[in-house]
Amino acid sequence: MCATRTQDVRRTLDQIQLLARAGTQIVRIAVDSIRDVEALKTFAGQVEVPLSVDLQESYRLAEAVAPWVAKIRYNPGHLHHHERSRPWQDKVRWLAEIADRYDCALRVGVNCGSIDPAIAEKFPAGETVGPMVALATMHAEFLESIGFHRYCVSLKDSSPERVIEANFAFARQMPHVPLHLGLTEAGLPPEGVWKTRRALMPLLAQGIGETIRVSLTVPADRKHEEVLAAQEMLRDVASGNLEFGPGERLPGLDIISCPSCSRVENERFVDLAEQVRQMTRYAADVPLTIAVMGCRVNGPGETDHADLGLWCGPNFVNLKRGSTLIGRFSYEEILPRLKEELDRLIAERTNSERSRIGQ
Ligand code: SF4
Repeated sequence: MCATRTQDVRRTLDQIQLLARAGTQIVRIAVDSIRDVEALKTFAGQVEVPLSVDLQESYRLAEAVAPWVAKIRYNPGHLHHHERSRPWQDKVRWLAEIADRYDCALRVGVNCGSIDPAIAEKFPAGETVGPMVALATMHAEFLESIGFHRYCVSLKDSSPERVIEANFAFARQMPHVPLHLGLTEAGLPPEGVWKTRRALMPLLAQGIGETIRVSLTVPADRKHEEVLAAQEMLRDVASGNLEFGPGERLPGLDIISCPSCSRVENERFVDLAEQVRQMTRYAADVPLTIAVMGCRVNGPGETDHADLGLWCGPNFVNLKRGSTLIGRFSYEEILPRLKEELDRLIAERTNSERSRIGQ
């Protein structure tokens, strides 16, 4: 996926070519506005690799983008934000009609951080696998009920175990539906590569997965590393090597961070993720999760499940503890503030462990 701003046509074209040279077979672009569509039109005809567009909350732009791309990804967890009184079935039927008219495929892109609230409320708070599978199945069955079959499904989570569980569960229920596999917010390499291998290799080894994506928190000019990591993983699975890599033992502290895309609100995001990794090394053995996210589209939802979460705005970073917002801090203030919260959390856990064992 391109990490450049879609309206920055020169950089986006360079990014697509970088990925194509590395051997990617499809490139995803984020589109959130009609200006993004105008930019897309200027370069869509100049690239040889098929383009896919990620619409997130902007599904109403489907008609404008469809003539220019091979695939449209919609997020079923984001359909409820607009035209609230319109049933989701109407929206999906419209998307399928557009896809049919312009000879596009659809991806039903389900993500752990943006489950449709109407589905989430049927499951215990915090559970992600059950709601993801239910949402994906509901949309796949609906598409088939209206005679639309040119689609694939993805179920992405930031936990390798949950990616495996969700994809196996969906594949058992709807084995004929192509799956796009990915671990969301895998984070910085090399840990992000190890985590992705841990999530995807068991599925690929069982013949599950038609397309894959490796999502790494790297700057735009290193995005081809995602393609190279994916290729190596496919080669290893084909040769029967299912080792995750030198990171078989993952550290106790899990830093999950998004790969960034054109929506990233401040380019300091990638550096911030790296600084968080450096600053928290002293707590590497503590089993906690810190999420670092690049924007408001997925940041608020996908930090809810982490012990501590940061999501970036243009000039500030939101700091959360679980689903509670602690405050907004400047890029200069955020690291010491995060350290304070991390130390507090470690002390609380240590005290509660001491009381549990009666010390
Ligand atoms: S959190 Fe935002 S910036 Fe990061 S990949 Fe997701 S949409 Fe892009």
